[in-house]
Amino acid sequence: MRKFLRSVSTAFLAAGALTAGDTTFWIEPCTNPQTSCEKGDVQLAHWALEAWQAASGGRLHFVETGYRSQALIRLVWATPAQGLYGETMAIVVNGRRGAQVNVRIAADGVKDRLLRDTIVYLTCLHESGHALGLVHTAQFDDIMYSFQFGGDIPDYFARYRRKLATRDDIPKNSGLSPADRAHLIERMSH
Ligand SMILES: [Zn+2]
Repeated sequence: MRKFLRSVSTAFLAAGALTAGDTTFWIEPCTNPQTSCEKGDVQLAHWALEAWQAASGGRLHFVETGYRSQALIRLVWATPAQGLYGETMAIVVNGRRGAQVNVRIAADGVKDRLLRDTIVYLTCLHESGHALGLVHTAQFDDIMYSFQFGGDIPDYFARYRRKLATRDDIPKNSGLSPADRAHLIERMSH
């Protein structure tokens, strides 16, 4: 059993991405008011992970755990001091490569509820893409697009918002571009 575990973890680290097998995740409950999170944001984070899983063509299988210490992907709500939109850092969990995803809710003063939820959802989606090993692109259509390349940031969120009549439309609109899907599949095939 020990040998088996070691060989699995070695293969995993060599692959450099979250690939075969179950990928455990944990999402922080919303408790810290400084982060501007709301209870329902946990569901938005779930939907973001489900979108990647659905795009993976069966390669990804997320499994929720109630224990942060056991989770390969840990999504936490960040405070304003922790960056503008978020940050994802590599961690090692029981010898496997994992990621801590810090999601900063940059929606201060946004009065439109669905626009606010759009910003939270797309931020979760972008940062969890990094957790899966995806890098930035320069294509405005991609969720992995980086604002470093310029572009109309309000319109980036507004174009997704325009697809929503209610909050329940979020899981029906993944927010992933064909290129995002292709990059995920490519990343997971190595
Ligand atoms: Zn990024």
